Amino acid sequence: MIDMQGVQKTYPNGVQALSGIDVQIDEGEFVYVVGPSGAGKSTFIKMIYREVKPSKGYIRIHKQTLHNMKWKDVPYLRRNIGVVFQDFKLLPRLSVYENVAFALEVIEENPKAIRRRVMEVLDLVGLKNKARFIPDELSGGEQQRVSIARAIVNKPSLLIADEPTGNLDPETSWEIMNILEEINASGTTIIMATHSKDIVNTIKKRVIAIEGGRIVRDESRGEYGYDL
Ligand code: ADP
Ligand code: ADP
Repeated sequence: MIDMQGVQKTYPNGVQALSGIDVQIDEGEFVYVVGPSGAGKSTFIKMIYREVKPSKGYIRIHKQTLHNMKWKDVPYLRRNIGVVFQDFKLLPRLSVYENVAFALEVIEENPKAIRRRVMEVLDLVGLKNKARFIPDELSGGEQQRVSIARAIVNKPSLLIADEPTGNLDPETSWEIMNILEEINASGTTIIMATHSKDIVNTIKKRVIAIEGGRIVRDESRGEYGYDL
């Protein structure tokens, strides 16, 4: 599903955030991306949904090559990729329902289909009874569940999560992991950057470790490998 060869990223200020990245990720995998702060994890993840363009190298997602992708084609790529952030990025004035429906409305689904699908994903994340709330009225864990619902409402084949439990307490983090595992079990590929040693060492998955912009470790059922 994802193929990167010889990928390098140098930011305009000269910082080389990634170099020599060769990696394949298959459909249905659950992959943790770990490493110290500043290692290049976010850059790696942002390249997958084309928030960051590689400076060199080859990237293919499904059948789309990214290095030569035109800006106007990026929305088509993103339609098939859900993204979840550490800080949720919900629209504060919209209800839970509207935050999730928004992603479908922009692709002009019919209203009945939108309603059915939004309630289905809110049910999946356990928030059907809070559809009318606004983000401020929810706990952090609930807000992250809304952002997961929003990310999967289009049925993307790939879900990217950049430190999704970074702002949450341990108990809430386990709830979020349960939901992500369920989504993965239904066939969605998941790539998750994380600093949670507990999660990585408990829910065993493939671990890709990045240090100094390079992949230094890539193990199925790997360990977190750092002290914190
Ligand atoms: P991580 O997610 O592992 O903390 P990042 O990918 O955010 O690492 O950053 C990798 C390196 O690239 C760091 O040195 C960081 O300061 C630098 N960097 C990240 N984003 C930018 C940017 N937009 N412009 C310049 N340098 C950046
Ligand atoms: P670049 O990395 O040089 O911006 P892109 O292929 O991503 O190259 O962009 C192609 C065109 O789309 C450029 O004219 C660029 O200004 C525009 N563009 C790039 N990013 C954005 C954005 N976030 N929003 C709107 N237009 C953008």
